Amino acid sequence: MKLYTPQTINEIKKKYDFSLSKSLGQNFLTDKGIIDEIIEAAEIGEDSLVIEIGPGIGVLTAEAAALAAKVVAVEIDKNLIPILSETLAEFSNVKVVNKDILKTDLGEIIREAKAEAEADGKELKDVKILGNLPYYITTPIIMKILEDGIPAESITIMMQKEVADRIKSGPGKKTYGALSVAVQYYCEVSSVVNVPRSVFVPPPNVDSAVLKLKIREEKPVSLISEKMFFETVKGGFGQRRKTLGNSLAGVLRMEKQDAVDALNAAGIDPGRRAETLDINEFAALANELAKSRG
Ligand code: SAM
Repeated sequence: MKLYTPQTINEIKKKYDFSLSKSLGQNFLTDKGIIDEIIEAAEIGEDSLVIEIGPGIGVLTAEAAALAAKVVAVEIDKNLIPILSETLAEFSNVKVVNKDILKTDLGEIIREAKAEAEADGKELKDVKILGNLPYYITTPIIMKILEDGIPAESITIMMQKEVADRIKSGPGKKTYGALSVAVQYYCEVSSVVNVPRSVFVPPPNVDSAVLKLKIREEKPVSLISEKMFFETVKGGFGQRRKTLGNSLAGVLRMEKQDAVDALNAAGIDPGRRAETLDINEFAALANELAKSRG
């Protein structure tokens, strides 16, 4: 069965009396070329464990299952579970979990899948996360995976183009912000493909883009305190129109002179704004601030 055609989606809707939920971001992908690009970018091997977020009717799941050792797909909508049993019936290596991804312990899913494979004398050598995410959970789910240190090699995901632009942005650009620095601290970010709204059923109100976030084995900067780094980044961008000399002391609740001293010690002119700092400069500043706090 070709799952990605608008006809299939209509047949499934009729057969299961299923209605697409706007609030769950159910815009289903109907372009085989884009599906292939996502799957190729995810670099799924025969020993891979794939975790898919939001399988819908299974267009990406089926392609991943044909390549991977195991696929675990986490879908919140219970009405899609019987549908997925039919559309993925030919794959014995797929497990569908009916849960909210934001309340799912992915570390546990990975441990369980690895233990099950081991019991069968197999080894799952790498973990690839992929998904066509509902827009409202894109940032929370990416940050949850990264902050929780989920042991995966990469996250290949479709998201609202505007969020993708922010994630991959750099110093001096309007789109550059705390999200860009945070994701780039954890990952090497690359663009996979831009996706027009016309390839979804129903079409969403915005265009999309697929990014590959390759999780770094080693962080790009060395930090005295990760907490201080993220506070500095968030604080700096929180008042992005102000110079760091004027904003930092307030957001970090410290004396202005101490903030200016830390900026100078990090080699950063206090007259600069956060949006001009690259990740190395944020790290140098956060390290000076951490030192001054003792
Ligand atoms: N992967 C399918 C595709 O590409 O056609 C469906 C993508 S659709 C944009 C998003 C999917 O995520 C829907 O199936 C929706 O029910 C599911 N979803 C929404 N919120 C979720 C959550 N919090 N946890 C898990 N799945 C969720």
